[in-house]
Amino acid sequence: AKAEGRGRWRFFEPEMDARMQLRRALETDLRRALAMGEFELFYQPIVAVASRQVSGLEALIRWRHPERGLVPPDAFIPLAEETGLIVPMGEWVLARACADAVSWPGSPKVAVNLSPAQFASRGLVEMVAQALRNSKLDPAKLELEITETVMLQDTEATLTTLHRLKALGVRIAMDDFGTGYSSLSYLQKFPFDKVKIDRSFTQELGRSPQSNAIVRAVTDLCAALDMTTTAEGVETEEQLEALRRKGCREAQGYLFSKPRPAADIAGLLDKLDRE
Ligand code: C2E
Ligand code: CA
Ligand code: CA
Ligand code: CA
Repeated sequence: AKAEGRGRWRFFEPEMDARMQLRRALETDLRRALAMGEFELFYQPIVAVASRQVSGLEALIRWRHPERGLVPPDAFIPLAEETGLIVPMGEWVLARACADAVSWPGSPKVAVNLSPAQFASRGLVEMVAQALRNSKLDPAKLELEITETVMLQDTEATLTTLHRLKALGVRIAMDDFGTGYSSLSYLQKFPFDKVKIDRSFTQELGRSPQSNAIVRAVTDLCAALDMTTTAEGVETEEQLEALRRKGCREAQGYLFSKPRPAADIAGLLDKLDRE
């Protein structure tokens, strides 16, 4: 009935129209949130499989929405990517994570996710350099996580950027390995320090012969190429034991801790170290 008065819109699918409006509303809300400082970083420990000592923490963004509460990244990162908002958002994440890392006892590493749009943006390397200068974080303590999608972009440009980042002294990890367009040649072509084995393989460890074989093969290959491996999504002692037997160096998952607010981290580092 409402469409009658707005003849121009009559032939549009009503759901399509609603979806576009929702998208635009979310985009406006995201811009506002960035200006208002509504984003927060949570951190999840990465532990050494052999000792269970914390070797690093991964920064994971959350949106503290005034009405909707704590919003997970999957609900807003895709739109932030599409609209380019990920660039200023990512700059904030990096600056915040570096500042937090300097404040922790025992100087663990901090891992920060870089999205493909951020990676392709101009000025990424200078932005990272700036965050390191401002925070005075030891570059060797910063690890940047990129996904395979980045490798699909212009290979020469990607390689150049990765080498410039490495020249700053930071470490590079390939995230979500084994999902999407994984190609073993990426491991040889690009200068990764670490490969993060996706949760979908970890979860079946000890139960599925295929997952066992895949994790073993990736771990061996990475060791031969002088890269370390971190298994993501470790939830059980059984999975941890399987990783130990396969020579996987690091693990991350609910077995050790869920991602926690920055304010909890100093205490958590203390507690996990004493266990
Ligand atoms: P990711 O980088 O693969 O991060 C790991 C995700 O797995 C996190 O979800 C984490 O909470 C979850 N996780 C960790 N351990 C377990 C476990 O044992 N079991 C299960 N089921 N899940 C586990 P989260 O925090 O919701 O983040 C989702 C994705 O959002 C991240 O995946 C990453 O791709 C993206 N993201 C998060 N923060 C940022 C950021 O600051 N910048 C960018 N560009 N992307 C981010
Ligand atoms: Ca990650
Ligand atoms: Ca991951
Ligand atoms: Ca992921």
